[in-house]
Amino acid sequence: MNALHTAIASSEIVVGNPATLEVIGSVPICTDREITLAVTNARAAQQRWMATNIRGRMQVIQRFQRLLEQQKTNVATVITRETGKPEAEALSTEVLVVLEATRFLLDSAPAFLRPERVPHASPAMKLKRGWLLREPWGVVGIISPWNYPFSVPAVETLTALIAGNAVVLKPSEFTPFSSLELQRLLREAGLAPDLLQVVTGDGSTGAALLQADINKLIFTGSVATGKRVAQAAAARLLPVVLELGGKDPMIVLEDADVEVASSAAVWGAFMNAGQTCLSVERCYVHESIYQKFLDRCVDKTARLHVGSGADSSTDVGPLIHDRQLNTVREQVDDAIARGARLLAGGKTMPQLGPNFFAPTILASVDHSMRIMQEETFGPVLPVCSFKTEDEAVALANGTEFGLAASIWTGDRNRGEKLARRIDAGTVMVNDVISCFGISEAPHGGVKSSGIGRTHGRLGLEEMVWPKYVDSDRMPGMKKLWWYGYGPAFAQQMAGFVELQFSKKLMNRIKGGIKSAQSYLRRKPL
Ligand code: NAD
Repeated sequence: MNALHTAIASSEIVVGNPATLEVIGSVPICTDREITLAVTNARAAQQRWMATNIRGRMQVIQRFQRLLEQQKTNVATVITRETGKPEAEALSTEVLVVLEATRFLLDSAPAFLRPERVPHASPAMKLKRGWLLREPWGVVGIISPWNYPFSVPAVETLTALIAGNAVVLKPSEFTPFSSLELQRLLREAGLAPDLLQVVTGDGSTGAALLQADINKLIFTGSVATGKRVAQAAAARLLPVVLELGGKDPMIVLEDADVEVASSAAVWGAFMNAGQTCLSVERCYVHESIYQKFLDRCVDKTARLHVGSGADSSTDVGPLIHDRQLNTVREQVDDAIARGARLLAGGKTMPQLGPNFFAPTILASVDHSMRIMQEETFGPVLPVCSFKTEDEAVALANGTEFGLAASIWTGDRNRGEKLARRIDAGTVMVNDVISCFGISEAPHGGVKSSGIGRTHGRLGLEEMVWPKYVDSDRMPGMKKLWWYGYGPAFAQQMAGFVELQFSKKLMNRIKGGIKSAQSYLRRKPL
């Protein structure tokens, strides 16, 4: 681990730019007491916020939207400084994604949060009306990673807030300043300070938040940490959303446009230096176009400029830290040792800084290699060929992950049909990653990639709990099934069931008569 990212004292973390190792600043490691206090204060503020009508909450989000639009380049600079990613990506995959989310939330939250009539067809309950209310959980804890330090926590926070919750946010120890920017902007927009509190710190801070008196946790991070979080949450039955890692496959069918698909593979594997949960982590190409596809990928990769994200000509920035760099290097070395062919990159770039890895293309890979099974989270594109669609589907589904996948074909119907067979939370036909920018689209995975969803209507659903309100329109009438059991009751019920569910008309008529006769005879308690 770079010295920059270790605590200099037990009470603070020094944060650095992974491209230049320049020190950006330091943040405290919040104590358990501070976390408890944050949650207590959040709860008090949430009671007032919940009582504010939706228009009041929307005004804050509207002002935030305006401020973020005005200050977009400053925010992008903060993101780039602590991640090293190109500013163009900070703007497109972070700031723009959050602005889009505000639009979606402002458009859809009022209708979503309105009490919803639940019509029913039960004849026995005909006098009852039902309503579905969506109640905020109270205090939502959010634990976020470093790879999208602004868009991941911001979308989750805004969704929680508009639904009437307060938020206590624990950002990654590597990128706390993006979350502090989010907090600053929301406060400037008029949000009461206790409604969003950022508790900085490391894994132990996240673990402490999990033990605090929160009502729900939205966790985004690795599978390993996600499993620990799930265990701790299970012990206290805390509801959780887990947005975890991926090993997203890209399937290129023989009728795909090789020129377009190869550009998508290069961008999908290398943007954000491959540190995207939706990155193209493995690529399966039909044997008839395999060589042509590889040639185009190699050619396009050679033209990429690697460097600090602050330099506007940079396409690929650094990895976040040397632990990530070592994971990438080990997986690439393992693949080469097992027979993969290195067509580009495959090495660190110490001349640029300690965290740079050259965009790498590996051919002739197979599923015995770590590079095809484990999340790499680095700028590596491993490519292998397939013969049939069935084989491609089996390979795509052949890992523990199920976050996203993409299918490339000239025949959209064929792609959409094949999408049904892929085990992934999202399957894109003729695109990669970009669906993260569609605010209406739910985001999340299956298998080890997680539980639950963020973004879109399903993301809103995660921020509320459903309450069914059942209201009887005849308050002066006793229900027939309130005791007074005995032969008459049993007869009445038998008749009633016949009346409702018998397929034979005569039985239904008999049932109706039986039921009416016994009804007249009996008296409920
Ligand atoms: P990580 O699991 O190491 O850390 C994530 C967060 O959890 C950090 O804030 C960390 O401090 C905290 N944490 C660590 N130990 C904890 C514990 N015991 N209890 C509670 N919190 C704890 O992940 P990372 O390296 O920051 O992020 C990269 C991973 O995140 C990748 O696997 C990536 O695929 C995944 N990710 C997933 C999505 C998604 O939407 N599915 C999005 C972005 C990143």
